[in-house]
Amino acid sequence: MLRIDVITIFPRMFSAVLDESIMRRARLKKCVDLRVHDLRDFSEDSHRKVDDRPFGGGPGMVMTPQPLVSAVKKIRGRRKNVRVIYLCPGGVTFTQQKAREMAQGKAYILVCGHYEGIDERVRELVVDESLSAGDYVLTGGEIPAMLVIDAVVRLLPGVLGCAESIAEESFENNLLEYPQYTRPADFSGKKVPAVLLSGNHLAVKRWRHEQAVARTQAFRPDLLKK
Ligand code: SAM
Repeated sequence: MLRIDVITIFPRMFSAVLDESIMRRARLKKCVDLRVHDLRDFSEDSHRKVDDRPFGGGPGMVMTPQPLVSAVKKIRGRRKNVRVIYLCPGGVTFTQQKAREMAQGKAYILVCGHYEGIDERVRELVVDESLSAGDYVLTGGEIPAMLVIDAVVRLLPGVLGCAESIAEESFENNLLEYPQYTRPADFSGKKVPAVLLSGNHLAVKRWRHEQAVARTQAFRPDLLKK
């Protein structure tokens, strides 16, 4: 079973995502072992402090190395094949391809930063790689960590009811997904494309592929170049 540990100063943020919907089901079905740890529990400071002012001056606070390094070492224990990932705007951008790779792994520790980020020595000592949610700055690594967990866990065998929904969705084969329709066939005068009502599976397949290519061309031409 894939195991994911999260280190955060806001553990309660995670229940909204991990205890609902498909993530909750994945945990109940034992497809994934998700554990959230409060960084303050690993602080040796009597006030459970985890941050301090930056050397060299400047605004804000920096997360101190001791709690983070202790947390990673304690959570990792003697386990091998555990990759430690720091969520950070300067990391490699997280993609569907990366989610697919991660779904093949055994165990991850996700480190959520806050304030101005973490002391650089944490990266040097215990971080294997950094992942970014995109080219923007958030207040903390919690939302990026949840995003990574969601994208990876839904790819695990047995999590989604229908494996085909993964095979046909956006970014597979570097295409965006084709338009989807459901009942009613006519809504406010807007009709569902006739081919989808034709019962001709081959024609539907061809139409969907054409639509996927057209959509990708219109909105994400960079994907087609891949
Ligand atoms: N001073 C940092 C910088 O300029 O790169 C930004 C720190 S940010 C306010 C605080 C924390 O939020 C980071 O340590 C990181 O864990 C998380 N974070 C913010 N934006 C992120 C992003 N785009 N992807 C992943 N993590 C992010």
